[in-house]
Amino acid sequence: MLQIMVDLETMGCTAGSSILSIGACAFDPEENWVPDIPECRSLDAVNNQSGLFHVNISLEDCQSHGLTIEAQTVNWWLKQTENSREYLTINPQSLKEALCRFQQFCFNLKSASDIPANIWGHGASFDQVLLGAAYKATGLVQPWNQYTTRDTRTLLALVYPELGGRIPDEVWPNEVRGLKHVAWADAWVQAIAINNCYKRIQIKNAST
Ligand SMILES: [Mg+2]
Repeated sequence: MLQIMVDLETMGCTAGSSILSIGACAFDPEENWVPDIPECRSLDAVNNQSGLFHVNISLEDCQSHGLTIEAQTVNWWLKQTENSREYLTINPQSLKEALCRFQQFCFNLKSASDIPANIWGHGASFDQVLLGAAYKATGLVQPWNQYTTRDTRTLLALVYPELGGRIPDEVWPNEVRGLKHVAWADAWVQAIAINNCYKRIQIKNAST
């Protein structure tokens, strides 16, 4: 069954923080499937690839909706690569527009399978929580519910207990090595990591 991995790049780690990017990737862990990634890594090429999604968001617009900025996270961004920081600045949309586009991405996948897809985030208290707060701040409806929320770190910690919920280094494909903290690429790698977990412990028919 198709599922959705979401990854956010943000300006804080708590609900109500500003969101700089939403990235997502459709995947099917039972079939060990993720979308191919485009040769060209431009934003348009990524969004033209079925099953991939990326939108950057105006920080000013986040602030105008009352979303916050945490100094610790700003300091963290200052230490990240130029590549990942630059990607955040490409074609930023208003918060509402970005959230509507993500709704549409989820909706399109839902109509393809007719079953609401599980939404996975990297950790139980980050992506869906911050994204849910942004939907609330704009008055828009989040495209998932509490029954379809899934968390990568719990499964990763079970399969690779020595890593404490982190993604094993060998999972990072070379094609996206320079794209760490680019939301669509993070989502794609996290989806591959979950596919690997399913393979390792031979989970069958566990999508729901
Ligand atoms: Mg990320």
